Amino acid sequence: MPVERTFTGLPYDLDDLLPELAGLGRRTTLLLPKSGSPGVRESSLGGPLLWPADEPWPTCGQPGHWAWPDEKSPPGTVPMVPVAQLFARDVPEFSFPEGRDMLQLVWCPLIHPQDQAHAALPKLYWRREADVLAVGVLRDIPAPQAGEYEEEFTPSPCAVFPTPAVEYPNWDMPEELQQALQPRIEELEERFGMEYTRFACALQNKVGGYPAWNQQPDWPVCERGHRMEHLLSITAEEELDMDMGDLGGMYIFVCRACPDLPYAHRYDC
Ligand SMILES: [Zn+2]
Ligand SMILES: [Zn+2]
Repeated sequence: MPVERTFTGLPYDLDDLLPELAGLGRRTTLLLPKSGSPGVRESSLGGPLLWPADEPWPTCGQPGHWAWPDEKSPPGTVPMVPVAQLFARDVPEFSFPEGRDMLQLVWCPLIHPQDQAHAALPKLYWRREADVLAVGVLRDIPAPQAGEYEEEFTPSPCAVFPTPAVEYPNWDMPEELQQALQPRIEELEERFGMEYTRFACALQNKVGGYPAWNQQPDWPVCERGHRMEHLLSITAEEELDMDMGDLGGMYIFVCRACPDLPYAHRYDC
């Protein structure tokens, strides 16, 4: 894939080079994918999930959702596919809701025309590992129906290397600031031989930090009016072997101000 998403960082503190950015750096944990066969008790992207045996595997029956390439809606419901599983022990910088130490993201890999994002339809689960182990692990997980769907939104299983980093805003930089900094950003790009988005922004799979937007930001607000927090960015990376509709990204947001932790998603490419 031609898109360069690898966050390089700099051997310098960007706050020193561009003092106006001080305070805008955000901590994130990069989820660097590595092809392999992760187990159910490992953090992974597209890997098998530690799913409780007493809970049916999630399916999607949204009317009119369709699959490439013929844009036909399959009859009945479609099993969702695993997208991400994170254990708190692997992402210590990320704060889990009280009493939870696992995060699972699945989605229906079809295209959902009724949804604003017009892409896969995600579902998020916070769990406690010990609770799942107590009831046992669901063994009978339906395999993704390979062949029936284009692999646009079905990630291949990858182990992850969680890697903490500090990143700076890309699309989320206030426009006035962006304009004021542009000449000095260009100087730095020349000096380091790479674009700002490579040395300052993590436009890749990650938890926390800024969403890896490809386009203008579109931050969701929960029903009670709170601006939501960026939780996860899932992007098309070579190891995951999915294109996400022309190298798109899915961004998952959560509201921690509301006790039931409502979540929302955005997609762009
Ligand atoms: Zn669906
Ligand atoms: Zn809220």
